[in-house]
Amino acid sequence: MSKSLLLLPILFLAGACTKKNEITTDGTIVTTIGMIADVTREIAGDKQEVINLIGESIDPHTHKPLKSEVDRIQKAGLVLYNGLLLEGKMGTLLNSRKEKGNPVVAVAEGLKDVELIGDGNHPDPHLWMDISLWSKVAEKIGAELKSYDSDNSDHYAQRLAEYRKKLSDLHTHALMVFPTIPAEQRVLVTAHDAFSYLGRAYGIEVRGIQGISTESEAGTKDINDLVDYLVEKEIPAIFIESSLSDKSVKAVIEGAAQKGHPVRIGGELFSDAMGKLGTYEGTYIGMMDHNITTIVNGLGGTAPKNGFQGKLND
Ligand SMILES: [Zn+2]
Repeated sequence: MSKSLLLLPILFLAGACTKKNEITTDGTIVTTIGMIADVTREIAGDKQEVINLIGESIDPHTHKPLKSEVDRIQKAGLVLYNGLLLEGKMGTLLNSRKEKGNPVVAVAEGLKDVELIGDGNHPDPHLWMDISLWSKVAEKIGAELKSYDSDNSDHYAQRLAEYRKKLSDLHTHALMVFPTIPAEQRVLVTAHDAFSYLGRAYGIEVRGIQGISTESEAGTKDINDLVDYLVEKEIPAIFIESSLSDKSVKAVIEGAAQKGHPVRIGGELFSDAMGKLGTYEGTYIGMMDHNITTIVNGLGGTAPKNGFQGKLND
């Protein structure tokens, strides 16, 4: 009898431990945005299950994590997020998970300060808009996969190299087609400032109606300033974004029309979210191919209508 009494607290402790381990991880890799999920899947192949949280048409700046997303993050074996305050409302959750010693990695961490745009306190988070920069992020993701699952290091290294070659081809294509836009029309106006990295990489001036986050709405002064700018520079087209309302874009078009300068919508761009999962535009390469093609043709340049691989729909 005395023996079983002694065992009791030990059994209780063992039970508690097992339960805690079950909660700690289910071995999945969880990503916050589609662009990170896609690159991770490209490198991981069939070796890992990747679950993405913020889907198509959803704005990550303002997205509050759902209960199911909090659970996913709590259970994940590895969490990969962008960082630089992109996932503003998830910051506390991600940090607390990291502080408990779990692998939670901001993919932007691999980049040098000089590679970032903006001041040190609030760098621009939209890194994926420069394909050569996102290729460095892919390298970072590859390194994280290798340390998470070292048994498959060679598999990840090989797939990473193949994927980076595709990114390099798309980057080269972009460098060739952007200069076909007439020089005075190389100005990209969008609903929010998501395209600064694209502007720097491919030689185009960018203006957003809102700032680099979407949390504050554009004011009347922002809209009037932009209208004056469009009229003065005779910019023919501005662009809407799939993850944002087009209200402010329409206000700018109306304002320009009142001043006798017609501006049209040059097309819809993917800024902070990709297209539908399972389509070409629902991959990082497809999203960027769509953006490059839409911008270049919308501003009077020449890019192949179906994109650099002939995979884009009309
Ligand atoms: Zn954004």
